[in-house]
Amino acid sequence: MGVDADEVNAVKNLLWPDERVILTAKQRRIGPGGSVTVPTSVLATDKRIIIVNKANLGIRKDYESIPYKQITSVRLEKGMISSTVFVRVQGYDKDKGLLKNGKEEGEIDGLHGKDAKALADYLNSVLDVETQSIEPNAPASASSDQIFCSKCGARNSAGSAYCSKCGNKMA
Ligand SMILES: [Zn+2]
Repeated sequence: MGVDADEVNAVKNLLWPDERVILTAKQRRIGPGGSVTVPTSVLATDKRIIIVNKANLGIRKDYESIPYKQITSVRLEKGMISSTVFVRVQGYDKDKGLLKNGKEEGEIDGLHGKDAKALADYLNSVLDVETQSIEPNAPASASSDQIFCSKCGARNSAGSAYCSKCGNKMA
């Protein structure tokens, strides 16, 4: 993973005080074929992705950030010349955002293969951590408020003093 000091410097005003840039990636394709909505550099911090469109500076929205909790999946597509990272973002506004339009995913294309892989790997590792940290708080299964009678095996609601079927005293 590489961090380009110039890229970080260009966005240092956007960074939060405790935010750390993990990696930077630059898009290779600028100009023909690249509209003004194409992002030109991508920074992954420990909190979010920041996409900076230098072509847009001073004209319209020139950067945007996507918190990791909004990203639902990440996919890497390797090309001969450049690679693309597809990110699926919950509630993403494709009309206003800088991610290139996809059908259901935003594209960060024109990246060096190495950068694209590093970005995809990092995003996936973040998504894994987020997923794991959510699990302990996952909704309890429906059966956790039920207990079973030790005598007849009937289902009883938790806290029942006696089995509703056989009258056995519950533990
Ligand atoms: Zn019973």
